[in-house]
Amino acid sequence: MSGGSTPSAVASHVLIGVLAVQGDVREHLRALTLAGAEAVPVRRPAELAAVDAMVIPGGESTTIDRLIRIFDLAGPLRERLGAGMPAFGSCAGMILLADRMLDGRSDQQTLGGLDITVRRNAFGRQVDSFECDLQVSDLPRAQDGPFRAVFIRAPWVEQVGDGVEVLATVAHDERRPVVAVRQGQLLATSFHPELTEDHRVHALFVQMVREHTDTIDTRSAPTAGTTNEEAER
Ligand code: GLN
Repeated sequence: MSGGSTPSAVASHVLIGVLAVQGDVREHLRALTLAGAEAVPVRRPAELAAVDAMVIPGGESTTIDRLIRIFDLAGPLRERLGAGMPAFGSCAGMILLADRMLDGRSDQQTLGGLDITVRRNAFGRQVDSFECDLQVSDLPRAQDGPFRAVFIRAPWVEQVGDGVEVLATVAHDERRPVVAVRQGQLLATSFHPELTEDHRVHALFVQMVREHTDTIDTRSAPTAGTTNEEAER
């Protein structure tokens, strides 16, 4: 089986939230758990404040945009993303993490964070949904072969900024649009990795969250000397 990575005894514990207003919430929770993280649904600002990182599932980006505003999550999500919280967006989630969007609804907003331009529903009506084998860079266990990617009314990435790493492209007509990107602690895919039993994309994200959390912990931990001085004052 090609399930998630087994958490090692020394791996740091990470708590990852899945935005639970619409979309494949259960599937993401399961994939994250199999990839070695603790995962919880997030619907409220207090729940968001408790997690190390967030997954924004696919669904309908216009609906998710509307619901996070109604649930008072849009502002707190923007703040956390701005402060460097790791996040993974799949499909509609990729749209929400994009700084720029084409073919959105006129009143539609994104959260931003990723220096990319996405085009909504980019593959058009004829190929509304499809599956294919993709070569995805940076995945753990590359020897397991290509990643079976499920696309459902998917966006693609039309333009990437300097700091953005392209992880995968797909053949489409005469073009080769970008369908997976990473920028620092942010990850996004046009496809739905939660819908297959291959959890390597989630494992990559868990690894990114661990690396990020370890860095922050090291930086923010006071040294013993500082603590003693503080206590003596
Ligand atoms: N077409 C949808 C949107 O624009 C995305 C589809 C999906 O997430 N499966 O939000």
